[in-house]
Amino acid sequence: MSLTLAILKPDAVGAKKAGKILAHLEGAGFTVKALKLVSLSKAQAGEFYAVHRERGFYAELVEFMTSGPVIPMVLEANDAVAKLRSTIGATDPAEAAPGTVRKLHAESKGRNAIHASDSDENAAREIAFFFSEFERIAVR
Ligand code: UDP
Ligand code: MG
Repeated sequence: MSLTLAILKPDAVGAKKAGKILAHLEGAGFTVKALKLVSLSKAQAGEFYAVHRERGFYAELVEFMTSGPVIPMVLEANDAVAKLRSTIGATDPAEAAPGTVRKLHAESKGRNAIHASDSDENAAREIAFFFSEFERIAVR
């Protein structure tokens, strides 16, 4: 078993889709190991997405991710990173496979409902970004 980080983004939380998406993830076989609702500051969102700092969409992404509360969660499954990426679908919902979270719930390439880590290394970094040792007690 391995771990990954998902974030229900402000569009999904604002549209009250959190329960539906969580049920989708659990139905796909993930176990929730940690979860909370938080409102990110500009500095926090900017740090989380620092890898995209030079991209044209960065300012808009930080603006979006601070526009309302988000729900980060640690998910466990066999090959969790790859499994979650395939469960949520492509970044742009227009290109996402049928039945994926983004095909079902995303509005656009920017407002796309959910984040998922893209490697085991980034999953570990992103889990530590959101969850303290204490909050991750169930992860061990
Ligand atoms: N994004 C965007 N425009 C783009 C590419 C990405 O607004 O052309 C946003 C979108 O919210 C995406 C996030 O930036 O989820 C991070 O981009 P990445 O390429 O890492 O996509 P992801 O890993 O989320 O599929
Ligand atoms: Mg990414």
